[in-house]
Amino acid sequence: MNDLLTPLVRDAAHHDFEPSPRAALARIDAIRPGVYARTRNHLDGAVTRLSPYLTHGFIDVPQVIERLSQRVALSVDDKIVFELAWREYFHHLWRHWGEGIFEVRRPPPASDYAAAVPDDVRAARTGVPVIDGAVRTLYDTGYLHNHARMWLASYVVHLRKTHWRAGADWMYRHLLDGDLASNTLSWQWVAGTLTGKPYLFNAENVARYAPDLASPGTVIDAGYEVLDRLARQSPDCGREPGHAAGMAEPAPGVVPDPDIWGLRDDRRECWIMHPWALGAPPQGRVIGWLEPSFHARFPWSEKRWSFVLTRMRAACDGIVVGDARALRERLGDVRLSSMQTLNPGYAEAMRAAGVLCEPVARQFDDPPQPMPSFTRFWQTVAPKAAPPRPWHR
Ligand SMILES: Cc1cc2nc3c(=O)[nH]c(=O)nc-3n(C[C@H](O)[C@H](O)[C@H](O)COP(=O)(O)OP(=O)(O)OC[C@H]3O[C@@H](n4cnc5c(N)ncnc54)[C@H](O)[C@@H]3O)c2cc1C
Repeated sequence: MNDLLTPLVRDAAHHDFEPSPRAALARIDAIRPGVYARTRNHLDGAVTRLSPYLTHGFIDVPQVIERLSQRVALSVDDKIVFELAWREYFHHLWRHWGEGIFEVRRPPPASDYAAAVPDDVRAARTGVPVIDGAVRTLYDTGYLHNHARMWLASYVVHLRKTHWRAGADWMYRHLLDGDLASNTLSWQWVAGTLTGKPYLFNAENVARYAPDLASPGTVIDAGYEVLDRLARQSPDCGREPGHAAGMAEPAPGVVPDPDIWGLRDDRRECWIMHPWALGAPPQGRVIGWLEPSFHARFPWSEKRWSFVLTRMRAACDGIVVGDARALRERLGDVRLSSMQTLNPGYAEAMRAAGVLCEPVARQFDDPPQPMPSFTRFWQTVAPKAAPPRPWHR
């Protein structure tokens, strides 16, 4: 394994994401809430790596909390519960704002941002070890630690003056856990367009949480006043001088062919398994559905296609690739049910095909008005999540 990559992938086996509900449960069973709370900010900390399973609906947040609480006494004060609530907060905003998650909420600190991620960033050739290491890890594994995502996004937006939307689209293309709400709104949070405050980091911060990648002598080796000034000025700081070994950006994966998997002529009602509902389906006929308009707009890596299709092939009696009309033509006028999704393309197509949708289970309330900050959201929902919920024992 490349030296730059090693610090971000200490435990390579931990990076194998087997696409099965069993693998998701094994990750829940490995959580030690106390160790998680103490170490989660460190790149080699005991984070769960549950995100691909949560994004793709192998499990939901209440299931994580319920299963964990069978082993340990959990409360809203536990860091792991708090972090899971971030996911539900971003989905709360997504439900209210819809396509509005892609619009800026507050002005960014500088006036000019490029519309594309610089080539040297995409090729892991910036010369800033923590950034190049993050890009390599992203391409190699489809997963990044939260701190690595924050550093990478902050560098791309504030020092390389790239529009957060370009950065978000690029990162989404390579993530296994790419979730439009968490990804888009986290990039906005880093850019300062969600809260009004840009997220900045420096080499000292990296040295604390990822000592092997401290990046001394590079553009991030500066005080916060300097970094704040750079964030408010327009020029791109550019890559570091000298040679930095690169890595080619993997090409996007290809949307599967419409006749990916044969369907027998069968007119029984069925459960529709789409990419955000890969958990254990109910008994009966199960049909996978891929709606191409979403995938044309938000391409996925080959890794992610393999993750999703392996699961669909294992769980489905057949897979349809096409729009709502194609789905109905293939399945006939039978009762179709599934899990709800907010993903554009899929959400409309499910309605158009008349699929009866169950809401995705939430642990925390979904307030009727959009909450302006996570803090307000948490102050509102956490007290109501106290007993008699089963997990607060
Ligand atoms: C720029 C940027 C882009 C991101 N893009 C995504 C994305 O596309 N998909 C995604 O699921 N998360 C995203 N996140 C949030 C967070 O980085 C990941 O959820 C987390 O790193 C996943 O690793 P984990 O499962 O080991 O996390 P853990 O620390 O073990 O947390 C457990 C679970 O809690 C939730 N969670 C934890 N922190 C956050 C957070 N800050 N925001 C939202 N949910 C959180 C996730 O579902 C996560 O799986 C992004 C963060 C940033 C800064």
